Order: sequence, then C-alpha cells, then structure tokens
Amino acid sequence: MRTRYAPSPTGEPHVGNIRTALFAWLYARHTGGVFILRVEDTDLARIAPGALEAIQESLRWLGLDWDEGPEVGGPHAPYIQSERTRLGVYQEYSQRLLDSGWAYQCYCPPERLDEVRREQQRQKLPPMYDRHCRDPRQREAMGQQHPGAGPVVRFAVPQEGHTAFTDLVRDEITVANATLDDFVLLKSDGFPTYHLSNVVDDRLMEITHVIRGDEWLPSTPRHILLYRALGWDAHMPAFVHLPLILGPDRAKLSKRHGATSVTDYQRLGYLPEALVNFLALLGWSLDDKTELMTREDLVQHFSLERIGKTAAVFNKDKLDWMNGVYIRGLGQEELAERLLPFLERRPELVEGRPKAEPARQGEGGLPDTIARPIDRGYLHAIVPLIQERLKLLSEAPGLVDFFFQQELTYEDKALNALKSPEATRALEAALARLELQSDFSHEALEALLRPMAEELGLKTGVFFGLLRAAVTGRTVSPPLFETMAVLGRTRCLARVKRALGLVR
Ligand code: GLU
Repeated sequence: MRTRYAPSPTGEPHVGNIRTALFAWLYARHTGGVFILRVEDTDLARIAPGALEAIQESLRWLGLDWDEGPEVGGPHAPYIQSERTRLGVYQEYSQRLLDSGWAYQCYCPPERLDEVRREQQRQKLPPMYDRHCRDPRQREAMGQQHPGAGPVVRFAVPQEGHTAFTDLVRDEITVANATLDDFVLLKSDGFPTYHLSNVVDDRLMEITHVIRGDEWLPSTPRHILLYRALGWDAHMPAFVHLPLILGPDRAKLSKRHGATSVTDYQRLGYLPEALVNFLALLGWSLDDKTELMTREDLVQHFSLERIGKTAAVFNKDKLDWMNGVYIRGLGQEELAERLLPFLERRPELVEGRPKAEPARQGEGGLPDTIARPIDRGYLHAIVPLIQERLKLLSEAPGLVDFFFQQELTYEDKALNALKSPEATRALEAALARLELQSDFSHEALEALLRPMAEELGLKTGVFFGLLRAAVTGRTVSPPLFETMAVLGRTRCLARVKRALGLVR
C-alpha cells in the first residue's frame, strides 16, 4: 500500500486538510505501507511563503512521519512539483497525450474565454470551454490571430458515453462525459494544472490509494479519463473520498468557527495526541461509542470500511474535553515539560494568536510577569496543583504566574480583601505563627492555621481568603495549603509581610 498527502502550500495548514494527512498516514501505518508527502505547488500565484514549512512542522508536531518526500527523499524524488516541472516530467506526458490525439493546443485568449462564459451565464448554462480549438482548422486560425499568446494544452474529453468509478467510501459514481469540460493540462507558462501533475505523480509514485477530501470528488472522473488516455488502466489507484468537515452550525468549517490551522491549535495549548485522536474521529469510528484512542490504537484499528459517508461535525467542546483527559493522563514531569514553552513564552507560541479566539484566562490577557528562567524542580511541584483542572496548556501561565512572580501582583478583588478591617489583625497573627513554624508541609500548615480562624473570631472562608490574597494575590487559586507548601516558607513569610505593609 502506498498513500500520499499532497498539500498545496497556499496558507496555514487547515485542520480539515491535516485530517486527510492523518487518514492517509493511518492507512499506511495500519497496512505496513508507505506514506508519501508530495507538494503540489504548481499554481504559482497561490503559493504562500512559509506555508510548506508550516505544513511540515504541523505533520511533525502531530507525529505524522513521511517515508518519502521533502527532506527524507526517496526513489521518486523530487517530491515537490515545481521542481519536477523544471525537470520536464509533466511536459513529457502532455506531449504524449498530444501525440495520441487525447489532447490539443488551445490558443483562445482570455477575452474570448470570458466572452464564452458570459454568454453561457446569460443562457443559464454551466460554464465550460466551448471546444473551439478542438477543431484543427479553427485552432490554426486562432493561432494565427494570436501569435504572441503561448497555447495551453487541453484534454480532449470524449463527448459521448459515461465515466464510472468506484469510490471506496461513496461506492459507484457515474458521470456523463458531456458534462466535463475540456480541462487544461498544461498552462501557457509550461506548468501543469492540478489534474495533470496529480495523476502523473500518483502513477509515477505508484500510489495505490488516493485518500483525499470530498471536494476532489468532481475531479476524479477527469483523472480516470487521464489514466485511461495514458494507458494506465491497469494501475488505477483506489479512490477514497473523506466526508466534509462542518462547523456546529452545519456550514463548512472555516475561520468563522474559530481556530482552523494546526499551528493555532498548538499555540492554544492542545496536545498533539489529543488532536490526533479527535481528528481521527472526524469521519471515522471504531464503533458507536469509543472516543479515546491512542495513536497506537488508531494504527491498529484503522480501516477504510469504517469511514463515514456523511459530513462530520467539528465539536470543539469535545476536543477541549479530550485535551483535558490527555492532560490528566500525562505524568507530572511530562506535563511540566509540555508547560515549559508556554511559561517561557516561546515566540512560536505567543505570536499571532488568532483574533477569532477570545483571550483565555492567562493567555495574552494578563501582563506577563513570570520571572525566568523557570526552575524545573519548582515547576514539577506546582504541576499536581493544576493538572486536574487544566484544559489547555496555554491556561497554565494564568493559573500559576503568582508562583513565579518576584514582585507579587494583586488582583483588585484580592487587594480589596486585604484592605478589609480584619485583615491586619488576622495577617499579623498568622505571621507570628508562621514565623515559628518550620514544617511547611500542607498538613502541618493546615493543622496550624485552621484553628486560628475561630481564635480570631473569623469565618474560616474569610480567614483563608485573606491568607490566599496575601500569598497569591488572588481570590481564586489552587488549594491554599498545598499552594503555600509549594511556595515554601521564605516566599510565604515575605508575601505576608508585604501584604501587611500594603494594608497597615
Ligand atoms: N493539492 C491538492 C490539495 O491541495 C491535492 C488533492 C488530492 O489529494 O488529490 O488538497
């Protein structure tokens, strides 16, 4: 089995597109086959700088390794179509089709094509090339009229009959040839169109399974015709068109629904293993109930038979839930390592947060006051305090920044609590006890401080709230005594003193 992912580097790697990569990768890994990355960049006007790097980065981040392709090479190198064009790969097949009468040169200038299209619109006909240059006499005349314009090469679609093929997901599909345009194979700049380069490369790279999104289904009859015209019937790959991905409002998934690029998900603090699990279930399922599947589970159980026909809905709440599950499943040290880049605000994670996504607590919304470098041992001790309630890695800075602040910042509500009449008395009493206390385990702290509320005539909630405000600057934090234990004696004493200085 040989599958490929054939992205066009035209922008940020869209999750829907990466889902295609995942399915092709899963099928290759499941069958012990080969997964190829091929770059379809022959539409020069649409190529975006940096897009290829972003695609490769996303695949690497998700752990979708390719056996042949850019960087790793392979027996069919190069795997970048613009490079293959320069080597004359596609021109050769275009010439073959011209020689065998399956293709013809077309000299029609753009103005004429526009005119034809406008006329078809007026008559409410589907837009398609009127095959003017298919007639050799008209072609010659057109060539003489427009000597400067380099011709394009068009495929001569049979005007009668039907083209049928079996899609492994959609079953039998039949299209009347008369509905197919004499599509362009080679543009006047010598670059191939998607149809030509895609088919030629699928054949040359010996692809056995073309796995791609539903939007390519209308192209497939054209590809079948090309295979036949090139005499490649016997090597026709199997076609697998994956169902569309919709937003919750059942419209095609787009920016409007929030983050759509894999890079955004990485920045927002999703784990690659959660995203892989989630994407695998967009259009595929093991059964009617299994949601959580590791990469190994997926490789073991993936099958083309269980790819659905109906569109899949991108349910972000489910992704968030899954991400929380995977975060809770990480070992504490592992989670600490994953949090580190967020706490260190590595540039790739903070720049360019998508505007569509509202700022989350601690993510861009709060000033960055974390002192660096981050002490790993200290971070390991903090992790258990937040692991249970973390949904996104990017929430961590907002939850733990007070641990790392050299100069504690106070939320307004915490400051107000500290300015309440009972604060000074309570904090002075607490400070006196804490100064005599050397055991700062959370059990010892609780045993010491819990009874004090009653002695001071305060509700426990009020007293603890004051302590929390003093040592964290917050009204909400991880459990108070655990937090104090991790902060440690020196920090706690300094912070209580500072709070007293603020309110006295
Ligand atoms: N270059 C096409 C894309 O951008 C590939 C489609 C296919 O897999 O045939 O998705």
